[in-house]
Amino acid sequence: MEDVVVIGAGMAGVTAGRDCARAGLDVVVVEAQDRVGGRMHTARDFCEHPVEQGAEFVHTAEADTWPEIRAGGFETITCQPGAGFLLSIDGRRSPELFSDPSLVKLGDLLHDLEAFQGPDCTVAELVARRNVEGIARVFADQMLTLHPLGDADQLSMVGLRDDRVVDLERGCDWRLVAGYDALPRHLAADLDVRLGFVVSEVRWGPDGVTVRSETGDEVSARAGVCTLPIGVLKTHAVRFEPDLPATKWRALDGLEMGPVLKVLYRFRERFWDPGLTMLGCDGPIRLYWTPLYGRGDDVTPVLTAYVTGHRARALSALPEDEAAAVGLADLDRLLPDVRPSQLVEEWRRVDWCTNPRTRGGYSFVRYGGAGSRAALAASDTDALFWAGDGTSTTTIAAVVHAAYASGRRAAAEVTARAGGSA
Ligand SMILES: Cc1cc2nc3c(=O)[nH]c(=O)nc-3n(C[C@H](O)[C@H](O)[C@H](O)COP(=O)(O)OP(=O)(O)OC[C@H]3O[C@@H](n4cnc5c(N)ncnc54)[C@H](O)[C@@H]3O)c2cc1C
Repeated sequence: MEDVVVIGAGMAGVTAGRDCARAGLDVVVVEAQDRVGGRMHTARDFCEHPVEQGAEFVHTAEADTWPEIRAGGFETITCQPGAGFLLSIDGRRSPELFSDPSLVKLGDLLHDLEAFQGPDCTVAELVARRNVEGIARVFADQMLTLHPLGDADQLSMVGLRDDRVVDLERGCDWRLVAGYDALPRHLAADLDVRLGFVVSEVRWGPDGVTVRSETGDEVSARAGVCTLPIGVLKTHAVRFEPDLPATKWRALDGLEMGPVLKVLYRFRERFWDPGLTMLGCDGPIRLYWTPLYGRGDDVTPVLTAYVTGHRARALSALPEDEAAAVGLADLDRLLPDVRPSQLVEEWRRVDWCTNPRTRGGYSFVRYGGAGSRAALAASDTDALFWAGDGTSTTTIAAVVHAAYASGRRAAAEVTARAGGSA
């Protein structure tokens, strides 16, 4: 019997495993896929520089992962969208767009979100109360539903406040030159990770945890850490024996996995201003960015289309070529003088909506679901502990450093238990 079995080798799982191993415990990490990293998945075959298919940025200078990034000697690129951010709504462009009178009526959304006192309401209700139309309405939707991924009629204002979404809008971002998934791989370097182990059953109790794979392999340990994504847990694809307590299922009801996909485009030549960092817009795709900035002028021109919410579901439902064509037609609309569709060389859709190992991109709190992350994190299932970005309450939720912090917390819970029972 092992000391600890960790389910999932994403950021939360490898962090929990690494910390438990450092505490002298025998650890096995079981992972369904043939790689470490989970939603951190860098493409190194799209062009000569890494392109992120999942998580892309280290968000803010306060991210919990910085000590690991520095200790690992990773080179980083500062990505401050700031001056290079272009917004195009209804044919009008920033900065001229920002003088639209409807935006004055909208007020300071970020301040209002930070200071939100409740009672809870959805983003759609909040925006409707402002009684704004046109540019201000699109702007509000863009600001409040782009990172959290949910649709405006699902997203809880209390949840957005507690998830500290505001910090994302105010901080700076960084990329890892080597590709973001180099970080979890680095943390997993000395761990026993069993790849291709698709967990179908978790048996738990006061004496330990046994995980069983689809092919009947089993690993038993004195304690377990579950880092399965919210989307996977909600499908009941993994059976818990005994069933999880009602508090856990209620917590999962209060959370939702938001739809997200990326379409990566490689072009023959760069057709955008070298200073461009991000392009926000109001079509079937609301954000494009270039993985180039900070990498120099002579690298292959690539654009990433970042698609969330109902727009992601729509592109997910199309065949890949048709989904890619939607983005190209959108770019032609935004840049009619250039016609980017004539310059494209290759595209790739990365669809997290249908990915069976995530069932979505990352989690958000549904209207009425405040407190669900803490309830999911609670160590109230005997020897089975909980981590993963959905369980984070101490930092910006649903990001890489949230997963990391949750892994550290779960490892501390496991080692405290191991110490107590020794
Ligand atoms: C498109 C996209 C863009 C993002 N951008 C950013 C960003 O810029 N910055 C940021 O900080 N965050 C970003 N995120 C969020 C970030 O990727 C996640 O918050 C974080 O990686 C989650 O880590 P985790 O360990 O909790 O979950 P995961 O990485 O999902 O790890 C869970 C692991 O469990 C495994 N698993 C699933 N089912 C089973 C099973 N049955 N048996 C065994 N193993 C199983 C999975 O394969 C996976 O490896 C983004 C996410 C997406 C999808």
